[in-house]
Amino acid sequence: MSGEVPQSASVVIVGGGVMGASLAYHLVCRGQRDVLLLEQGRVFGQGATGKCAGGVRHQFGSEINIRLSIESLAMLDHFEADIGQAIGLNYCGYLFLLTRPADMAAFEANVSLQHGLGVPTEWLSPSQVAARVPLVRTDDVLAGTFYGRDGLCDPNSVVSGYVAAARRSRARLLTDVEVIGFDVRGRKALGVKTSAGDVAAGVVVNAAGPQAAVVGRMLGADLPIWPLRRQMLVTTPLPEVPLDFPFVIDFAQGLYFHREGPGLLTGQSNPSERPGFDESVDLEWEQHHLARAVERLPLLEHAGLAHHWAGLYEMTPDAHPLVGLVPGFDNAYVVAGFSGHGFMHGPVAGKLMAELILDGRTSTLDIAALSPSRFSASDVASAREYNVI
Ligand SMILES: Cc1cc2nc3c(=O)[nH]c(=O)nc-3n(C[C@H](O)[C@H](O)[C@H](O)COP(=O)(O)OP(=O)(O)OC[C@H]3O[C@@H](n4cnc5c(N)ncnc54)[C@H](O)[C@@H]3O)c2cc1C
Repeated sequence: MSGEVPQSASVVIVGGGVMGASLAYHLVCRGQRDVLLLEQGRVFGQGATGKCAGGVRHQFGSEINIRLSIESLAMLDHFEADIGQAIGLNYCGYLFLLTRPADMAAFEANVSLQHGLGVPTEWLSPSQVAARVPLVRTDDVLAGTFYGRDGLCDPNSVVSGYVAAARRSRARLLTDVEVIGFDVRGRKALGVKTSAGDVAAGVVVNAAGPQAAVVGRMLGADLPIWPLRRQMLVTTPLPEVPLDFPFVIDFAQGLYFHREGPGLLTGQSNPSERPGFDESVDLEWEQHHLARAVERLPLLEHAGLAHHWAGLYEMTPDAHPLVGLVPGFDNAYVVAGFSGHGFMHGPVAGKLMAELILDGRTSTLDIAALSPSRFSASDVASAREYNVI
């Protein structure tokens, strides 16, 4: 364990991924004392955050996701200057390849929404797509969308930057401490039970990522967040791939590629994957994925496998996160359920959650659309984010 568990804390954060680390940092920036973050792992950020592809993008299909990206990517842009930690931010751009007529109208609407919010995504013809990525097979491509201020960033550096900065301001961030329950009285969580002792708490925050529903159940709350396995692999060096190769997404196949060191990272979402905590690599799906990847990017035929791994998305019914008070509570919050694109939204999510806790409302953005209570009333299907890979 990286320190003693104190007997009490003003704010206890459960989970040391990007959400918990960002929240701890933003709370201490606002002057909050006695912030305690508890992470069950030996190292911070080795849950979904450490398994992620590192993509950061503005190209979404809902207004709230685009606004979260605008704020969050601006924070990543200033991260090194503000926090003193390099994070490998690389604006290589995101290129969506569209091959199904059915996706054209949705992407046209999404691009127009992005333009309206000040994000100048380009609509590319098939020949413009081919010119931008000559290594990619494009004979079936109907159109592409590209934005050059999308790109890549290193998740571990972001987490360790927030952890170090929060500790410099005297927040206590501990590893090897598992939260195993809460002391709940009526609408209040008065304390947190951990593997290293009990802590009296003023406020508790569930930032447990794919485990958020498990932590929610410890409070007696039913949070609609479930784990979904996603896997990817990195190839041996491919010197043919240019340094400015974008993050390429074949949207219809949920298949993607980007440069990773001297090789290429590629993943493909398995539409038949069932919710669960299994993080082993599905070798059968990997074979399927590799065959599709070689079809799209033929030079992969000559690449070897350097590493592969699986991690868990934290899905919700409308593929948007839950950010706010846990229904039924006055002092228990949740910031989880980012549905496979939470790394990029971690910076602003921590800031928004700090505003909610300290001010009772957010000032950076209106996040009514992310209310944890929304599922009881609204029509979830119509609000679903379209650009989920
Ligand atoms: C394969 C893959 C690719 C992805 N690609 C991208 C991408 O390109 N761009 C992007 O923006 N996002 C991506 N994501 C999604 C992104 O990784 C997540 O949305 C984000 O990291 C969630 O952060 P988090 O802090 O909520 O969760 P986590 O990082 O999982 O952190 C939660 C932490 O809580 C801890 N915890 C859980 N239960 C307890 C407990 N009881 N007690 C103490 N600690 C506990 C866990 O150990 C964990 O460290 C990807 C995810 C995966 C799996």
